[in-house]
Amino acid sequence: MRSDVLNHTLNISDMKKHNFYAGPSILSEYTIKNTAEAVNDFAGTGLSILEVSHRSKEFVAVMDEAQALVKELLDVPDGYHVLYLGGGASLQFCMAPMNLLRTKAGYLDTGTWASNAIKEARLFGDVEVLASSKDANYNFYPRGYEVPDDLDYLHITTNNTIYGTELREDPDVKMPLVADMSSDIFSRPVDVAKYDLIYAGAQKNLGPAGATLVIVKESALGNVDRAIPTMLDYRTHIKKGAMFNTPPVLPVYSSLMTLRYYKEQGGVKELEKLDLAKAGMLYDAIDGSRMFVGTAEADSRSIMNVTFVMKPEYKELEKEFVDFATARGIMGIKGHRSVGGFRASLYNALPLESVKALIDAMNDFEKQH
Ligand SMILES: *Cc1c(COP(=O)(O)O)cnc(C)c1O
Repeated sequence: MRSDVLNHTLNISDMKKHNFYAGPSILSEYTIKNTAEAVNDFAGTGLSILEVSHRSKEFVAVMDEAQALVKELLDVPDGYHVLYLGGGASLQFCMAPMNLLRTKAGYLDTGTWASNAIKEARLFGDVEVLASSKDANYNFYPRGYEVPDDLDYLHITTNNTIYGTELREDPDVKMPLVADMSSDIFSRPVDVAKYDLIYAGAQKNLGPAGATLVIVKESALGNVDRAIPTMLDYRTHIKKGAMFNTPPVLPVYSSLMTLRYYKEQGGVKELEKLDLAKAGMLYDAIDGSRMFVGTAEADSRSIMNVTFVMKPEYKELEKEFVDFATARGIMGIKGHRSVGGFRASLYNALPLESVKALIDAMNDFEKQH
């Protein structure tokens, strides 16, 4: 009976869909298929993963592998822990300063998520905003800012999902880095040793919503004076195999499937090659177009979220293009309201052929107008 239900839901539409949603967003077919199978029968238990204890040996093995593969794929040095927490990346905006901010932290104001992180950090200490691109509607990634010596950490948002800007490097500063990598983790190698903390909501480049990946340096913890509620203290979750309480079981399982798929693809270096190729093709198409124009400055362009609009003389055609693309199975390209126009999210699981389909649609639409 269960598999009938499953087959029915998996076959609702035969039309090839190209999924450009910004988050939750496309997952590999491998992830979806194996998650569906585990919902039906988990690890040969004859039970759904939805109804099995997180302390069962089958799930403990899932959690162990989901931690180990993150360490392997990102080359995480000793002394770091990998956690899957609830609360989204947004909860990390407060957990990070609560656990790490003693007196003063530096933040880069590079978009909506970064400014949300700044707002939370201010509850816990001095926050110095070292640079901001707000006045330019966050259309570039600031560089060349001064970094005072007395910061506990520098917080960066490596990819600005809404504005389509990205910093594809790990800055060289004297103090440790803390990074929101929600929308570009696993799209490049990262020098984890420079960071005290990396966090990423799963729903952009890893798995379903409901889990937040945290990579935290053990020696960075326990150095603040304030009392930290048990659930908001990273040290709570480091103990007990990262399962102090019930973790988001299904999102962790799906994330593991994605991590296996990433490993099978050759790891982050190979994923980065494909990501660069996909983004390069789309930016070339935008730059060569009569009708479309990119919104982010060239040296700040994200390879994960490509933001673009129609030139002023075609502006009134934006809605029509979204409908035109949707009719071809191109989903989720409507831009965020803060930028308007279009946003094509090209996360790791998105195939090159989907980018080609979008470019074809852009070209055909341009010919018709
Ligand atoms: C989506 C996103 C968030 C918010 O994530 P939630 O899990 O919804 O809290 C934070 N930061 C970045 C960079 C994002 O892309």
